[in-house]
Amino acid sequence: MEQQLIYTASPASALDDLTQRLGRPRCVIIADVNTAGLVLPVLTAESETAAAAPQIIIKSGDADKNLNELTGVWRQMDSLRLGRKDIVINVGGGVVTDLGGFAAATFKRGLRCINMPTTVLAAVDASVGGKTGINFNGVKNLVGTFTEPLATIISGRFFATLPPREILSGYAEIIKHSLLEDDRTFTSLLHHSPAEPAFSTAGLLPLIQTSVLTKKRICDADLRESGIRKALNFGHTAGHAFEALALRRQAPVPHGYAVAWGMVTEIILSHMLLNFPSEYVALLARYVTDNYGAFDLSCNDYPELLELMSHDKKNTDPEKINFTLLEAVGRPRIDCTADPERIKAALDIYRDFSGQ
Ligand code: NAD
Repeated sequence: MEQQLIYTASPASALDDLTQRLGRPRCVIIADVNTAGLVLPVLTAESETAAAAPQIIIKSGDADKNLNELTGVWRQMDSLRLGRKDIVINVGGGVVTDLGGFAAATFKRGLRCINMPTTVLAAVDASVGGKTGINFNGVKNLVGTFTEPLATIISGRFFATLPPREILSGYAEIIKHSLLEDDRTFTSLLHHSPAEPAFSTAGLLPLIQTSVLTKKRICDADLRESGIRKALNFGHTAGHAFEALALRRQAPVPHGYAVAWGMVTEIILSHMLLNFPSEYVALLARYVTDNYGAFDLSCNDYPELLELMSHDKKNTDPEKINFTLLEAVGRPRIDCTADPERIKAALDIYRDFSGQ
């Protein structure tokens, strides 16, 4: 059954309507410690379905998207005697939708689930497209499934308590989707600055709606990522390397910040290898530096960054690093490779743009 996408100002009523249409199944909520305190009280006060659902609460943060937390969730699902007709409702960011979605996909060979993303990143990215999973053996998302939720209920109401850096983190993925879409969508996003106090989270919903359409269009064409879905990895080869290096330095950065810096590096590579228009390179670089700052980088870090990029899941040749690049806005080219000298040259230009 195709995943339903529901955009609403009233997520509680949307949830009640949906479960009524499904014949009022028994539901269980999975949330993390933060969404349990900030989001669940409002949801349970307004929704009969949420009020009646037992709650399974996990730790927050990507470091705990692991087997230990997952085992705890499976145990609680077993104590609640959940069965195939029951429904899991994930209320949280990407950690909850990934881990809760995986728990649902695997418990008794699969329970249905509904996602209620509470971060912008989860709304535009993690809760759409069916990827679920956990980190394992020190590798991000090593174990998981492709399992689409029954529905994803997206509401700007959840974002009111988000710290600005979490909004910016999700906004980076919105920008990435726009680069896969068209010039107008891309340039119009750069007129907004979610870091400014005047930015309203209510105004995010239409931007999220457009962004989700891009992700959904691409995932519908290639759910299991054998072809065009790799376009969604734009910014992520370098971005994951920045994220991992920050972790090694014990100064973790939000995923979307790493993706923003990774997009600048990869748009520079796109210009070098595929002639991507230089005016948009400068535009994106300026926007990212103004809103996300810069990844602290010197040329002494290059060997470690290249080593981290060589572990990217997309690589097939151990000598070459695989990227998704852009020929133009809206024209991604998957399975591009670049040799270390080109990548170092792109990192040099990234440092110039970010004033380092
Ligand atoms: P997250 O779930 O860790 O949420 C970020 C922080 O915000 C957490 O501390 C969380 O408790 C808190 N939070 C959540 N909602 C809140 C709210 N409404 N108000 C206040 N605080 C709130 O991280 P994320 O950025 O949402 O997602 C990152 C995760 O998503 C990573 O594990 C990543 O691997 C995964 N991801 C998955 C996919 C996919 O396709 N499945 C895509 C992108 C990212």
